[in-house]
Amino acid sequence: MDFEFTPEQKALRESASRLARDKFAATAFTHDDFPWANLAALAEAGFTGLTIPEEFGGQGASLLDALLVMEAVSEVCPHSGDAVQATNFGAIRQIATFGSDDLRRDLLPRLIAGEGLVSAGMSEPGAGSALTELKTRAEIDGDHVVLNGQKVWNSHGPEATHVVVWCRFGPSSRDIGAVVVPTDTPGFTKGAPERYMSGERHCALFLDNVRVPRTHVLAERDGLSRMMTIFGIERMGNAVRSLALAQSAFDRAVEHAKTRQQFGRDLCEFQGIQWKFADMKVQLDAARLLVYRAVVNAGDGAPLRAEAQIAKLHANETAFKVANDALQVFGAAGYSTEYPMEYLVRRTRGWMIAGGSVEMMRNKIAESIFDRRFSQRATRATA
Ligand SMILES: Cc1cc2nc3c(=O)[nH]c(=O)nc-3n(C[C@H](O)[C@H](O)[C@H](O)COP(=O)(O)OP(=O)(O)OC[C@H]3O[C@@H](n4cnc5c(N)ncnc54)[C@H](O)[C@@H]3O)c2cc1C
Repeated sequence: MDFEFTPEQKALRESASRLARDKFAATAFTHDDFPWANLAALAEAGFTGLTIPEEFGGQGASLLDALLVMEAVSEVCPHSGDAVQATNFGAIRQIATFGSDDLRRDLLPRLIAGEGLVSAGMSEPGAGSALTELKTRAEIDGDHVVLNGQKVWNSHGPEATHVVVWCRFGPSSRDIGAVVVPTDTPGFTKGAPERYMSGERHCALFLDNVRVPRTHVLAERDGLSRMMTIFGIERMGNAVRSLALAQSAFDRAVEHAKTRQQFGRDLCEFQGIQWKFADMKVQLDAARLLVYRAVVNAGDGAPLRAEAQIAKLHANETAFKVANDALQVFGAAGYSTEYPMEYLVRRTRGWMIAGGSVEMMRNKIAESIFDRRFSQRATRATA
């Protein structure tokens, strides 16, 4: 077991950090919608498509490389982390893994160049945690597939040019698969943009006899299990981003505690404040080690499911707690919208719900402990 980064990994992290400090820091925390210009800068510097095979325009690097870039960028500018996520960890990986060669050759280079944006269309009004309840239908019609249904909570949906639509090709959960849909396809419409508590935009998506070539199908049968394995990569992007924001909150609070004086002393001289920082540090280190374990073991593939679930759960809860404690150290300035602390708290909160809630992670971790599947449905638990 080796806890040291290679010289190449250190250089990669430093170069991503330098780009973020030079180009993104000045406008960090000011973005109202997707940071297209920052995506272009990331693409130009070679920080998009890191984990995508070279034959499709990527760099064939490991998931750890992408994690290092994600950490470095998100610590400086969380919104630019959205661009790293979309081009390294998110639905793009579902396309890279399951897409037909035609689709991958056509679409992936454009996404990696920042000329498009793909989002994941999974959730529906009646299918959140219970993803297998999804109702969006796909029917094969010769060389095409026709989709009907509705999606909700689509992050960056207002800006997306493509959506990986999770859908069912038949009645059973074994019939769940996914299809890539360009958002300008006739019959595809977007609902009005809405905002999460953190300010990021999302929208509903409506599919009314949307017809795309069959080469856009990623999985047709038995897709759910395979897609969920790759979704573990998305979860690692989610986990490391939440930690990066918490680290940013922590670092800001350390500097504040060194200089803010009350009762004639620096805040960091009070034991009540010191212990808060000690706890934050231990929690951050522990969560980071769990994320790194899952990502290092993934190599250039997907993490083991249980390792990804454990890492996501602990990273999400740690990040929110650390960001919240760091805000407390700032007093009223932490609560003010004039400073970034409150945004960091709001943003870390969302990841406890997105990508599989912390409750669902606990359900899944329990299944791996007992090596049994516990049905969540209104029937008895099954062996
Ligand atoms: C910031 C953010 C970004 C998102 N981005 C996307 C996106 O891009 N694409 C997309 O498709 N979706 C997206 N989502 C939606 C997300 O996937 C769902 O919110 C999530 O799966 C939970 O579903 P729900 O909101 O319907 O909550 P519900 O499933 O209704 O759950 C409500 C509460 O009950 C708990 N709960 C439910 N079932 C159980 C159970 N069996 N045991 C214990 N507790 C349970 C949940 O954990 C939750 O706390 C996003 C959500 C957020 C917050």
